[in-house]
Amino acid sequence: MNDNRNNLPMNPAQLRQREHLEQKNKAVEKMQRQQEVLEWENKAAEKMQRQQEVLERENKAAEKMQRQQERFKRKSTAAAQKTLRQIRELSHKPDAIEPFLETLENIFSNRKDVQSPQGLPTVGTYCVMVPPEIIYAQGGMPVKLCGGSSTAFGIGDDTAPRDACPLVKAVMGFEEIGTMPVYQNCSLMAVPVTCDCKKKLAGWLEERRPTAILHVPANRDRDEDMERFVGELYRFSSRLEQITGKALDYDSLSDACQMTADAQFQLSRFIDLRRKNPLIIRGTFSMAFMNALSYSWLPEWTGQLSALNRELEGRAKANEMAVKENRPRILLTGSPVIFPNFKLPLLIESMGGLLAADETCMGERGFYDPPAVCDRTVDGMIRALANRATRPCTCPTFTDNLRRIYRIRQLIRDYRIQGVIYHVLRGCLVYDYEYRQLEEEMGKLGIPVIRVETDYNDEDVEQLRIRVEAFIELIKYGG
Ligand code: SF4
Ligand code: SF4
Repeated sequence: MNDNRNNLPMNPAQLRQREHLEQKNKAVEKMQRQQEVLEWENKAAEKMQRQQEVLERENKAAEKMQRQQERFKRKSTAAAQKTLRQIRELSHKPDAIEPFLETLENIFSNRKDVQSPQGLPTVGTYCVMVPPEIIYAQGGMPVKLCGGSSTAFGIGDDTAPRDACPLVKAVMGFEEIGTMPVYQNCSLMAVPVTCDCKKKLAGWLEERRPTAILHVPANRDRDEDMERFVGELYRFSSRLEQITGKALDYDSLSDACQMTADAQFQLSRFIDLRRKNPLIIRGTFSMAFMNALSYSWLPEWTGQLSALNRELEGRAKANEMAVKENRPRILLTGSPVIFPNFKLPLLIESMGGLLAADETCMGERGFYDPPAVCDRTVDGMIRALANRATRPCTCPTFTDNLRRIYRIRQLIRDYRIQGVIYHVLRGCLVYDYEYRQLEEEMGKLGIPVIRVETDYNDEDVEQLRIRVEAFIELIKYGG
């Protein structure tokens, strides 16, 4: 054996030293490898631990969500059932009201989705300013999703700013809890930007769902503003086409207009009957059937309303009124009244009044005016729908809204109204703004009016009961 450095043979001592060195180096290398393995193992163990922690957190969150969902289902079912029971217990309930109540029951208590023929994709709309005809014409089914649930409101209350209105909080709550098929299964959301709350809701929904945002003119009397709204409807139609695969054409739009015209004819028959006989039906029932429209296949709803009209015509002939002549006839106006939040209609009727009419967008307003089609082309019909959605609309999100005063005056005359209850959902500034003007106008007519501010909680029911009762007694006995 040689020493490599000088090629001299190594002596045994050197050889042993060298072997010893080599063994030492090997042992160090082995130790190093073992340490590396140990480090990898530690790292892998740490990674695994982190993954396990994430999984545990996810499991806990999923369990929490499941518990929340179960609680939500129990509470929302109970709330819907309570409102339905109160409606059903009102005296002189027409038999033909039952199918409408069943619709509300299916959606809010049994948590079923809407019954759309051939499983048409549903489009959630958030205001009466989205023309349903365009959705029908392009192979969709509109469902109106403005929320009235106190349970969903409680969940949305944690997400939305404190001063947002309960309607928007309820929508956010429904979206977050994810247990309502009517919300969950929508293929597209259509949100017109009307007030600040709707604007922020539109942005919030857009981050989560396919959402079409429609810009609505603040002033509907200027042609250039209306022209922009027509453009919005065309954009909405293109978005719908991506969802349903069906373009807008003359025949289907014309059929859809005919379908809504049939429904409006039945509604006008009802309105006419009620005008002639303001005591023929309790307004809570009419608000219930108008709310059911939001979740019904339109021809079916039309048939149900036709049956109700027949029943009421029979009652009118037999002079069978729902209440006695001396019941104060009340008009309810203001922020939307959405099932199951029927606090005010039920209080009015249980405290000795008759809800004789309403001027709210979940009531007659949403469906009252037919489109006036002058030009029988797709463009002519779209323009007629744009006009119908905005020009006669009495929503206070428009800058000028004198037509709401005219409309309320007309309702007071038609239904021989003796008092007006003005509903303000907490946080709904646009309706609150218009109260003063209405109060002045009512003063001129000598019609008493009260402003009632509330949200979807049940906590203020007793306080509201006292106010509504006092108001009804004031009308009854003078004050
Ligand atoms: S109150 Fe006005 S903005 Fe709100 S849903 Fe009704 S019509 Fe639309
Ligand atoms: S109009 Fe009023 S109730 Fe409707 S979304 Fe706006 S703030 Fe809410």
